[in-house]
Amino acid sequence: MASTLLNATTLNHFIGGNWVGDNKSADVTNPANGETIVHVPLSDGGAVDTAVEAAKKAQKEWAKVPAPQRAEVLFEAGNKMKARKERLAQLLTMENGKVLEEARGEVQEGIDMAFYMAGEGRRLFGHTTPAELPNKFSMSQRCPVGVVGIITPWNFPIAIATWKSFPAIIGGNAVIWKPATETPIMAHELAKILEESGLPKGVLNVVYGKGSTVGDAMVHHDDIRVMSFTGSNDTGRNIASECGKQLKKVSLEMGGKNAIIVMDDADLDLAAEGIVWSAYGTSGQRCTAASRVIVHDDVKERLEERLLAKIEELTIGDGLDETNNVGPIINQAGMEKIQSYIQIGQDEGANLIAGGYVLNDGDLGKGHYVAPTLFTDAKPEMRISQEEIFGPVVSLIPVKSFDEAIEVNNGVSYGLSSSIFTTDANRVFQAQRDLDTGIVYVNAGTTGAEIHLPFGGTKGTGNGHRDSGVQALDVFTEWKAVYIDYSGKLQRAQIDTE
Ligand code: NAP
Repeated sequence: MASTLLNATTLNHFIGGNWVGDNKSADVTNPANGETIVHVPLSDGGAVDTAVEAAKKAQKEWAKVPAPQRAEVLFEAGNKMKARKERLAQLLTMENGKVLEEARGEVQEGIDMAFYMAGEGRRLFGHTTPAELPNKFSMSQRCPVGVVGIITPWNFPIAIATWKSFPAIIGGNAVIWKPATETPIMAHELAKILEESGLPKGVLNVVYGKGSTVGDAMVHHDDIRVMSFTGSNDTGRNIASECGKQLKKVSLEMGGKNAIIVMDDADLDLAAEGIVWSAYGTSGQRCTAASRVIVHDDVKERLEERLLAKIEELTIGDGLDETNNVGPIINQAGMEKIQSYIQIGQDEGANLIAGGYVLNDGDLGKGHYVAPTLFTDAKPEMRISQEEIFGPVVSLIPVKSFDEAIEVNNGVSYGLSSSIFTTDANRVFQAQRDLDTGIVYVNAGTTGAEIHLPFGGTKGTGNGHRDSGVQALDVFTEWKAVYIDYSGKLQRAQIDTE
């Protein structure tokens, strides 16, 4: 086993506070070098029933714990994550591949979310509001939903889990969590941290297994009343339609085709820096990664020169080696998908000016590496400009005006993140108004969300819910309207008395 850090060769499900094995398991490999790191159990879905039973029991008690006391667990978890940040980051790099600097950033998001949601333990605000009738009091309050299910992807194996599980926990729910099979270690670590932080048994349950078995069992379980999912569009649509049939609340965060607009008055050095960071960071495997650059014709060539120079400086390899800035692709299937889009771009007539090939010299051949790739003179309607590639591939699309830039930005089926580089204050405010994505950046790339703001997108990116921010509480709580009549007589609302 490559990971002495983990101190285990096989992981276990975490159900009702017990660490439970399974008959079936799969190897988890390090995408940087193909080494087996650990074995993950694969439930056939049956463990979901046991986990839900444990969760139902635990949730009844947890809901009665005052929220400020629930918060103590999250404060403690935040402290433990902080103390273990480096270990978590190294394990994260081993299972996911992202470079250490980014892995530390991801763990930091989890720490921030722990403290932020712990703070919600003393807020969880509802409203008091005037009543229509005399001697009557009215208010609304948040209530737990019960047992909630979360399904997370491999690309942010700890941050996304905290965006979902911490609001659920502070809201008085119990959680069944199915992490992505590629990245189970962060789930193991987070569950251990919550256990050691005093979370009562059964409030968090981790069930490992494939989406088609464990995920499907969760989606169809009558006692899981909310499903919160982050992942691909196809899977999300399927989950939404299955949940719809059961009148189950479902929150979806899915793909993106995020663009950076570079106007003729932009600081081009800054723009190039922002593009390279957003496009090639995490090897382009962020839902918010920039995969389109919409550039004003007048600065296209100057921007290209800067981008090519910066791409040249990128070093690619194992993320544990801190001299590297770009790590591997998660697996062979991911790499083949990226290669197929590089071919599609060439067939469509876009001009390939950087990368476009797999890196397999020496040790790189043991992992999955694609060179940072740049197409220019791409057309907005090309598939490489429309479809999510989820790799280090960027299409540069020239435009003639601000209005055309906005139109191209909005002309895709996704709506997660967008950005504009400009020094014109009027354009800043027009762009903020007209870009139809859930996240907008000005003079920064498309990545870098902060956890106290709502995270999510419009159109095909989601279904109107948001992860993180106080808005995440809406997914995991029900609103209750309460009327207290202290008049001592029957007062009938909306009924004429004359
Ligand atoms: P995916 O294939 O949809 O997998 C995501 C999760 O869903 C995994 O845990 C997977 O389990 C599970 N799953 C698969 N099939 C399922 C089914 N039939 N029922 C229930 N669960 C099922 O997505 P991915 O390729 O791993 O992740 C990349 C995608 O996530 C990209 O499209 C990216 O844009 C998106 N993403 C979006 C955001 C956002 O917030 N908008 C953030 C990050 C990533 P197994 O893999 O274990 O089978």
